[in-house]
Parts: sequence; structure tokens; C-alpha cells
Amino acid sequence: NEALANGRSIELFESQRLVEAPWELSLHARIEEGLRNGEIWLAFQPQWDFLEGRVSGAEALIRWNHPTRGPIAPDAFILQAERAGRIDTLTYWVLEEAISAALALNALGPRFQMSINLSAQMVDKADLVTNFAEIVRRRRIEPSLLTIEVTETSSVRNRPAACHNLTKLREMGFRLSIDDFGTGEASLAYLADLPSDELKLDRRFVSRLLDSERDRAIITSTIGLAHALRQSVVAEGIEDAATFAMLRDLGCDHAQGYYLGRPQPFAVFLSDYEQGRRRAISDV
Ligand code: C2E
Ligand code: MG
Ligand code: MG
Ligand code: MG
Repeated sequence: NEALANGRSIELFESQRLVEAPWELSLHARIEEGLRNGEIWLAFQPQWDFLEGRVSGAEALIRWNHPTRGPIAPDAFILQAERAGRIDTLTYWVLEEAISAALALNALGPRFQMSINLSAQMVDKADLVTNFAEIVRRRRIEPSLLTIEVTETSSVRNRPAACHNLTKLREMGFRLSIDDFGTGEASLAYLADLPSDELKLDRRFVSRLLDSERDRAIITSTIGLAHALRQSVVAEGIEDAATFAMLRDLGCDHAQGYYLGRPQPFAVFLSDYEQGRRRAISDV
């Protein structure tokens, strides 16, 4: 058994330049149990609307508090779930939970936009569109209240099928966002092929905005490009007031980052949202 795990690690090392511990490799086997036991949960991070001066949305981010390992980073177990072919279970669970949160938040009054992340391994699946359609119909949610974030990546196996699915989802009313924009292999090709609604600036650019003239130039022209294509821009990874103010001045539409709020359990997010914590921030 150990030899098998070692063999697997070597194979992964060669293909992914990454060695996982054996316990990580078997994480996927516990996903259903983790969901049942409430070890897996969704955190919500606020998204600020510069024009309206308020929190107008959130990104749903998955979390796993493993009973013996403690918190496990989503990047790690999502990768394992993808490899094990168990990403469907997680994806549909996330969608259902995010819809529950979105319905509750929209019931409070102002329009509230909820973003979820869609794995590259899901995006080309044949039954993706019918499943999403079934879920939003059953849950009676307007699809335009949901934003689907996809990361530009070469790991999409069937690119035409992915484009077909995303186009269909967008026709149904879902908003599409290109996550981590600027870091993938084909930013511009993506824009040419995919009808998206939003570009999400990767935090690598955002975090260097104040110090690097080059990154500022990249962000400025990306915002211009996005607006020319009638897309909105959200910056992720904003950690301080100065970066927040600069992005506002550069014409960025939405902001997300620890400065505005960390990913939180729904109850915490909701109480922050209701208390209008946003008012303090708009004084910046
Ligand atoms: P992402 O979609 O690009 O999410 C943004 C990541 O940046 C999140 O990490 C978030 O917690 C973190 N972040 C937000 N603001 C700040 C900040 O101001 N500073 C810093 N340093 N980090 C910030 P997280 O939650 O660990 O998620 C990592 C990645 O895992 C996500 O990147 C996404 O690709 C993936 N992921 C998370 N949840 C899901 C999910 O439900 N489904 C899928 N397929 N992937 C998910
Ligand atoms: Mg994202
Ligand atoms: Mg991102
Ligand atoms: Mg990312």
C-alpha cells in the first residue's frame, strides 16, 4: 500500500511538480462524509460596489475543517476531488448552499449578487447546463443573481464543449466572470471566444499596485479593455485603504479583499452585512 502511494507520488511529481502526502491523496474518499458531518462549509467574502458605495455581493468559498487535520486549503482538496472524479458532488453542493444564501440576502431588499467558482474539470461536462437549469428552476432563483467564476486555464479538456456550456449558461441569465484574470495562458484568447460579463483581476497585480508602475499600467489598461467590451471589473485581494482608493480612482467597478472583509461563515457575514459595516468603509 505504501509502495502504491509512493508510486503515485512520483507520478504526480513528474506531471504536476508537486508531491502530496498520502493522507491528502485519500481526501476525496471522505468528501461525502465531510459534507454530511458539516466539516465542509461555505464561507462568504463581501464584494464592494464602488458606484453604489455598498456591499452588493459576495464570493462563496469552500472550506473544510478536517476532524484530525484541521482546516484544509480549498486548492488542495479541490485538486484531489478533481483527480478522483468527485468534483460534481462538491460543485452542486456549493451551488445549492450559495443559492440558499443568495435567496436570504436578496430577501433583505437591495439586489445581492452571489459568485461561485466553477472548476475547470466541470466546465465541459455534458450534463452541466441541464443540472444548473434544473437547480435554479427548483430553487426559484433568478439566474442573473448568480455569477459563475471560471479560471482561465489549459486544464479544460474539451474547450469547444466548455465554450458551448458557458454560452448556454449565460443565455439562461447567469453572469460569467473570468477569475484570476491575467495569470492564465490565454487571457486575450479567452476574451475573444467567451462572452463574459466580468473580469476578475488577480490579486498578484492588485497587491503590487501601489509599488509597481508596470502593474498599475496593466490594471489601468485591463479596466479600459474590459469597459470597451462592456464588462465590469472586480479586483480581488485588496488588503489596505490605499489600494482600495487607487482602484476606485482607476475606475474599477467592484472590490474584494481582506480590507473589506474576510471570508466568513454565513451567520457572521449576514450580521456584518445587516449592521451596515459598509458605512464605515465608505468614509475612506
Ligand atoms: P479564487 O477563486 O481566486 O479565490 C480568491 C482567494 O483569495 C480565496 O482563497 C480568498 O480567501 C483569498 N483572498 C481574498 N481576499 C484576500 C486578500 O485580501 N488577501 C489574500 N492574501 N487573499 C485573499 P481561498 O478561499 O483559499 O480559495 C482558493 C481557491 O480555491 C479559489 O481561488 C478558488 O480557485 C478555489 N475555490 C474555493 N472555493 C471553491 C469552490 O467552491 N469550488 C471550486 N471549484 N473552487 C473553489
Ligand atoms: Mg474565485
Ligand atoms: Mg481569483
Ligand atoms: Mg485563485
